[in-house]
Amino acid sequence: MRIGIPAETRQGETRVAATPETVKKLVAARHDVIVQSGAGISSSITDDAYAAAGAQLGTAADAFAADMVLKVRAPSAEERAQLKSGTVVIGMLNPFDADNTAAMASTGLTAFALEAAPRITRAQSMDVLSSQANIAGYKAVMLAANTYQRFMPMLMTAAGTVKAARVLIMGVGVAGLQAIATAKRLGAVIEASDVRPPVKEQVESLGAKFIDVPFLTDEEREIAQGTGGYARPMPADWMRRQAELVHERARQADIIITTALIPGRKAPILIGEDTVKAMKPGSVIVDMAIEQGGNCPLTELGKTVTRHGVHLIGEPNLAALVAADASALYSRNVLDFLKLVFDQEGNFILNRDDEIVAATLLCSGGEVLRK
Ligand code: NAD
Repeated sequence: MRIGIPAETRQGETRVAATPETVKKLVAARHDVIVQSGAGISSSITDDAYAAAGAQLGTAADAFAADMVLKVRAPSAEERAQLKSGTVVIGMLNPFDADNTAAMASTGLTAFALEAAPRITRAQSMDVLSSQANIAGYKAVMLAANTYQRFMPMLMTAAGTVKAARVLIMGVGVAGLQAIATAKRLGAVIEASDVRPPVKEQVESLGAKFIDVPFLTDEEREIAQGTGGYARPMPADWMRRQAELVHERARQADIIITTALIPGRKAPILIGEDTVKAMKPGSVIVDMAIEQGGNCPLTELGKTVTRHGVHLIGEPNLAALVAADASALYSRNVLDFLKLVFDQEGNFILNRDDEIVAATLLCSGGEVLRK
C-alpha cells in the first residue's frame, strides 16, 4: 500500500506521524512510504534520515495522494481538498468534532480517530492520549519551574535554608501522575485532587498527599466512579466542597497544575478568580485544560499572563514542545494501530468486529459511523 506522511500544518504542531524507525518497519512490510520533504524537521528528523529508512520524499500533494495518510491532527479544509475519496486517514482526528467528521465523511474518507480507542489492555500500546499526556504532564512541570522564581527542592546552604516548593495537581489521570512524578524528582512537596476514588492510592504511592473530598450521597459516589476510566461531571454541591478545600490548599501552593478533563465537554472550573486572588504573589498556574476552555477562568489560550500577582500559563499542546519524543511515541502508537487494519499481505481490511477498530472508526464510504 502507498502510505503518505504529510507535514502537519496546524499552528504550533511540531509533531509528525511517522519517524525513520516506524518508516523502516512499514517499508520492511512492503509498503511504499511517501514522506513530504521537511515533514520531520520540527521534530529534528531530517529528510535524509527518512530516505535512509526507505521512504520516498515528495511534496504535500504526493503524500496526500497516497492510499493511506498518517496524520497527527485532523486534516484542515485545505488538506481535505487534496485527499481523494476512499483514502484511509489515521490520526488524532477529534472524535467530538461532529462538523469535522461530517466533512471527512463527505470527502469519502475512511477515518480513524486514535483518541477514541477504548482504555483496554490490548489498546495500551496504541493509546495516543496516554503517550502524549505523559509528555505534557512532564512539560507542564518544566514550564512551571521555569517561570517560578524560587527553587523547587529544599536547600540548606551557608546563606540559609530555602523551602521546598509546594505543588498542587488538580486532576490525576496520565498527565497528572507524570506531573506528580516530575515535581517529586525536582524535590517539591505535592498535593493532588481528583474525583475518581482509585486515584487516591496512585497519588499516595508517588509520595504525594491526596485531598479527600468526601462523598455525601450515593449519587455523588456513583458519578465519581466515571465511565470507562474517564471522569463525569460531578454534582454542583460536590464541586463547591472541592472548591472550598482547594481554595485553602491553593493559598499554600507555589505552583498549581490543572489537568482536569471530561471527554467531549468543556473542562470543569476548579480554580476560580477568588482562589487566584488568595494565592501568594509569584505563584504559577499551568492550565493544561486550556484547549477545552481551561480549569481556571483567568488563563488565556496560548499566553502567559499575570493576574493578581499569579503567573498563569495557557500553553496549548504541551506535548508538541517535546517534539522529538512526542513524535517517536506517537508514531509507535500509530504503527501498532496499523496491525489492526492490515492483513498478512499488507492489504487494508476493515474489521468492524474488532472493538478498537469499531471505536475509532469515524466514517467510511461517505457515512458517519460514530455518533
Ligand atoms: P483525562 O485526561 O480525561 O482527565 C484528567 C483527570 O481529570 C482525570 O483523572 C479525571 O478524573 C480528572 N477530573 C475530571 N474532573 C475533575 C474534577 N472536577 N476535579 C478533579 N479532577 C477531575 O484522564 P486520562 O489521563 O485520560 O486518564 C483517565 C483514566 O484512564 C485514568 O484512570 C488512567 O489511568 C486510565 N487509563 C487507562 C488505560 C488502560 O487501561 N489502557 C490507559 C490510559 C489511561
